[in-house]
Amino acid sequence: MTRSITILGSTGSIGVNTLDLLGRAAVGAFKVVGLSANRNVDLLAQQAIEFKAEVVAIADPACEADLREKLASHSVQVLSGSEGLVELARHTADITMAAIVGAAGLEPTLAAVGQGNTVALANKECLVCAGETFMDAVSRHGTTLLPVDSEHNAIFQVLDKDRPEGVRRLILTASGGPFRETPLSVLKTVSREDALAHPVWSMGAKISIDSATLMNKGLELIEAAWLFGRPSSEIDIVVHPQSIIHSMVEYLDGSVLAQMGSPDMRTPIGYALAWPERMETPVEQLNFAKVGQMTFFDPDLDRFPALRLARDALEAGGQAACVLNAANEVAVEAFLQGRIGFLDIAHTCERAMDTFASQSDFGAAPEDMQAVIHTDRRARDTAHGHIVNL
Ligand code: NAD
Ligand code: MG
Repeated sequence: MTRSITILGSTGSIGVNTLDLLGRAAVGAFKVVGLSANRNVDLLAQQAIEFKAEVVAIADPACEADLREKLASHSVQVLSGSEGLVELARHTADITMAAIVGAAGLEPTLAAVGQGNTVALANKECLVCAGETFMDAVSRHGTTLLPVDSEHNAIFQVLDKDRPEGVRRLILTASGGPFRETPLSVLKTVSREDALAHPVWSMGAKISIDSATLMNKGLELIEAAWLFGRPSSEIDIVVHPQSIIHSMVEYLDGSVLAQMGSPDMRTPIGYALAWPERMETPVEQLNFAKVGQMTFFDPDLDRFPALRLARDALEAGGQAACVLNAANEVAVEAFLQGRIGFLDIAHTCERAMDTFASQSDFGAAPEDMQAVIHTDRRARDTAHGHIVNL
């Protein structure tokens, strides 16, 4: 049977990898309903034509005319702006790949959740900034949520979901990023290019910087807590530079189950596309003799304070994770634009969290999506203020 799919963020790293798998699948296995992008009109138009999309949405309204012109001789509906993204997400599809980066993905992803489409979730920031609201919507609408983030996909694959009481802890693996062995004194002056050069994974700019600060692992810690309903004390993190083990589940009897594979996002993406079946992907088969060694270390929280901040935010609850995520998005953007240094990223997050911690409503989780968006905006303003004063 043909599966219909909408990709939110089709021009990004996850989006392009998803389309790569669709292009290799058997004719008629998948049908593209909708595609979206922020501003990349050329690639979005090209994808829409190649995959015969029914509808496309461009987030930046200023790009709409250009997109319409490029698609003039094709029967594709063109939408734009944040309302356009939500409208696209409301189209019925068997699967929605949620691959927008950042809190910008929250509203369209929630719209897909509300539609009852199976949601393949790559956008971890959704769960970090709105965990409770998001998971409530998932259970209210009976939506199937399939984690695409490789660590969470690994856990999803080895977790005994029917007997959660037998699980002792989840163990997230971290590659350690490009600065795994870089001394603190050098981290002060690392460049944008150094930080973007991830040793194992090739990804979008924001997640690459998050991997370099280890904020990515911090966001994933919070993501895991919401996805699998576990407290901070039951989620550990271990650095594993080879990224062969994508994460693990430890059971009460001491058994540890791991999911392994070559580090290539097309495995977790393919898993979500074919679930509960399996599909063939071009991912390089694992050759253990070639891998040779697998090593493991504790993360260094002094050099990578972002990970400590994320654990603090998870344990504090309330608005903390939303504030952390918003401040981090602002700080990463500022670092990418050369306006702040590498260590200023975590510093900006910490100062934003401190500013909010003194406010009376900090301990209360945002009640609905509007409240999440309000907190997100205030936290962005606060972070901008700190950056200007650095
Ligand atoms: P990317 O930057 O390569 O792509 C992001 C996509 O979102 C693009 O299509 C872009 O046009 C769109 N977009 C950006 N800003 C937008 C906005 N304001 N409104 C609407 N659309 C917008 O990012 P990516 O690496 O593909 O990551 C996407 C998500 O998946 C992130 O949340 C990331 O953390 C997560 N993820 C990525 C990887 C990976 O290997 N790349 C792995 C695990 C999880
Ligand atoms: Mg990951």
